[in-house]
Formats: sequence, structure tokens, C-alpha cells
Amino acid sequence: MTVVRTWSVGLVGVHGAMVEVEVDMSSGVPGVALVGLPDAVVRQSLDRVRAAVVNAGGEWPMRRITIGLSPAAMPKQGSGFDLALAAAVLAAAGTVPRTSVRRLVLLGELGLDGAVRAIRGVLPSVLAASRAGHRQVVVPAGNADEAALVEGVEVLPVDSLGALVAHLKRSEPLRPHLRGPLPEPPPLPDLADVVGQAAGRRAVEVAAAGGHHLFLTGPPGAGKTMLAERLPGLLPRLDEESALEVTAIHSIAGTLPAEAPLLTRAPFEAPHHSATLPALVGGGSGQIRPGAICRAHQGILFLDEAPEFPRAVLDTLRQPLERGSVTISRATSAVTFPCRAQLVLAANPCPCAKAAGDSACTCSPLERRRYQSRLSGPLLDRIDLRVDLPPVTRAAWLDGLGTPESTAVVAARVAAARQVAAARLRGTGLTLNAQVPGRLLRERWPIPRTSLALAERALERGALSVRGFDRVLRVAWTLADLAGVAVPGPGEIAEALGMRLQRVAA
Ligand SMILES: [Zn+2]
Repeated sequence: MTVVRTWSVGLVGVHGAMVEVEVDMSSGVPGVALVGLPDAVVRQSLDRVRAAVVNAGGEWPMRRITIGLSPAAMPKQGSGFDLALAAAVLAAAGTVPRTSVRRLVLLGELGLDGAVRAIRGVLPSVLAASRAGHRQVVVPAGNADEAALVEGVEVLPVDSLGALVAHLKRSEPLRPHLRGPLPEPPPLPDLADVVGQAAGRRAVEVAAAGGHHLFLTGPPGAGKTMLAERLPGLLPRLDEESALEVTAIHSIAGTLPAEAPLLTRAPFEAPHHSATLPALVGGGSGQIRPGAICRAHQGILFLDEAPEFPRAVLDTLRQPLERGSVTISRATSAVTFPCRAQLVLAANPCPCAKAAGDSACTCSPLERRRYQSRLSGPLLDRIDLRVDLPPVTRAAWLDGLGTPESTAVVAARVAAARQVAAARLRGTGLTLNAQVPGRLLRERWPIPRTSLALAERALERGALSVRGFDRVLRVAWTLADLAGVAVPGPGEIAEALGMRLQRVAA
């Protein structure tokens, strides 16, 4: 028996899964058989591997070669197995010592010339190798910084198959990669830049404190995008586990910056309304990539000009946002990515997007109503906060000319409020007010009737639905947490109502 074994890593969603590569050589008609559920890309990799071996000066064995990838039941995608396949074949052929690859984990795509190309998903792959007890990982040189985010694993960067062969023959060992200190995350835009817009500033603070989805309306130039962009800065930094998960998602999506930082801030994703459904939720040919909604995991998904998004697209977003995960199905496999994102919608009051009162706007009241009603329905139902921003007039601007609070000041209040909410919700499995189902909220933490009078009247009048009432309660609790009061009073109820009943001027 001439069976050689080595290791690589496949991806299942955002997690790596160890894949053992086995190569068996026997006499018989020369040829290669690949077994173990490989997809079309992996099958093509045989041609790349053969060309790379020959072009790197090696000899392709003229034997009967059987290559197995196990566990067989796990679907295997992408080109990251090339290097492990090449190493195993060369070891089976005796070009390099068999034992040299036994404990090694190899990641990387091969070019026809033998160059080792960077791949996506290196971070989750190396994490999986580390957790499986492997201590040495060979990665493409372009992925070395990313691989080195995982502690306790020796990262061996390689740029060509020839260099790998030299390493395995011990004629010229690869040098372990040492990465420098992690780059500081670039500064986020500051809330102090937003002059005026007291209601908008308040809305993002409340949204950050309670995790509430937010809907901002207002004429162009009112600052909707500015405010949304400042939301990540108000959210707490990601803990280590979340940071690794978010960084892994961006690694698989191919959106991790070149210097491969660990992403410790809440991500901000703002897909354009012309984005395709696969771009939003995930998909693509070959290896399935996470879409914008998944890249916004633990952060903000901002849909600017939300009524311009096709209705079907908005409806498709609803379930994943509710469940916190999205599953993309293929004929042979399905992949699930996490997507616990906070949604921020922004909309102009009318389709022509002229500032309010601008004489150039010729939209009829009917056109305006129709424009806004594009968003009605199940998606809006999930949004606790709706705020209508006034145009930034001279008066409103002067009004806000006191020094606006900075992100640091507001973020401290947000952090304190989140702590209070988490302490109250302990034992429920929830941490944010936005996550609390209405019934649990009403039964477990009743608010005195006297405080609720205003909301109950709105309910009787029909200005508020029962679900709307629950949303008012959720926001009122966040306002109480921000104010440091134990239970929402009439003031918190009134303010929450105001953030609910706002209507776009039709
Ligand atoms: Zn108009």
C-alpha cells in the first residue's frame, strides 16, 4: 500500500472543517480518480495540480492515482485544496518524504505555473486547524497576515510549489511568518460632525442602545446617511468571538482589507438599490459567498433610498433578519451564514427627491403616497423607530449650534443603557430591548397604567395597532435605560410614541 495522507480545510458556512486528503498509487492504467463529493472547481483543480507539478520541474507519476477527500459526506467547494492535493501526490510518488506531509495542513490555490495563489476563508480555516490540534499550517504568502490572526499556530507562507517541495525535502525550509502589531482600526465618523438634527441624533442613540431597527425619512441633505454612518461608532466593540466571526465572514466574502486586520467594530454595509439578490443575501458561482446582509452581521445594514429596492428583495430580507441567519441552497448543498444585523432604512419623501418646499418638485400627493407605500408591510412591521427629519434650515442649524455631543460621549451612555437592559433581561437569553417579544414584555415587566395613558388613548383612537403598542413599550424601556430610571414613566411613553407615530408628510 502506498497511501499518503495530509490535511486541508473546507468551509461549511463561516466555519472551517478539516478535510483529510488521501492519495493511493497503484499499478494499472495511468489516470486519476477523485472521490469524496468534490464540486466542479475541485475537479478542475486536478488539471491545475498536474500542470503546476510539471511546470515546477516535478514529474507527474504515470500510475493509477486515487485521491480521496474525507469526510466524504461534506460538500467541498473552491480551489483551496490544490496545494494539499499536490503535496500528497508528490509524497505518494516519492518526490518528497511521505512523513513530511502527514501532520501538515495545506491551504492554497495553484496557478498553472506552480505559483501559489491567495484564497478566501483563510482565517476560519486556520482556526479550524488550530482547534483540531494542528500546529503548522502552510498558506499562500498573500494570506499569511490573515492566518497569523490565529494564535498558537505556526504559519508557513509559501509563494510557489517549488518552494513547498524544497521545504518538504528539508533543503530550504520555509520561514514561519511573524506579523507585526495589528493595525488600529481607522477612525469612524463622529457624531459631533452632525450639526442640528436633534431628533435624528436622539434616534440613532436610542437605536444603538436598544438594538432597534430604524427608519429615517426626510428630504435629501437632511443628514440621513450621515446619521446612519455614525451608528457603528455608538455600538460596543465586538468581543473576541464576534470579532473572529465577523472577520471570517469578510474573509470568505473577499472583502477583508489587504492588511488583514481583526474586525473589532460593528460593520456597516450599504448596498445600492440596484444590487442583485445574490449580492444582498449571498450566492455566486463556485464557492458560495456571503452577501451584504451577512457582511453586516453584528453591525448595520443600511438601505438608502429604501423604496427604490425591488419589493421582492425587501421581502426576502425580512426572514433572515428575523431569524439571524440566511441559508443559501444549491442543488447538492446548502450553506447557512449568520446575519444578526440592525436594519436602518432611509427614504426621501417623494420619488423626485427634491428638498421639501422646493418648487421644482412636481410629484402629486398620490405619487408621494404611492412612493411611501412601497415600503409598507411586513418589513416596516419589524421597525421600532421611525423618525422624520426636517430639512436643515438656517434656523434648525443655528438651533443646534451648541457644541454637539461627540460619539464618545453618546457611546458611553449607550454602553451604560445596554448594561442595564442586559441585567434586566438576564435569564431570558436576550440582551437587547428590541429582541423582547411584546407579550413577554407586558407580562414580565408591567408598566403602571397611569404612565401608559397616552399610548392607550392612541390605541383606542386607532392611531396605534397592538403590535405598534408593543414597539412603543420596547422603545420606552430603552429610553428609561438611557435615562437611568427603573421603569418608563409618562415622559418615556410620550417620547416613544413620538418616535412611532411620525409620518412622512404626504
Ligand atoms: Zn417630488
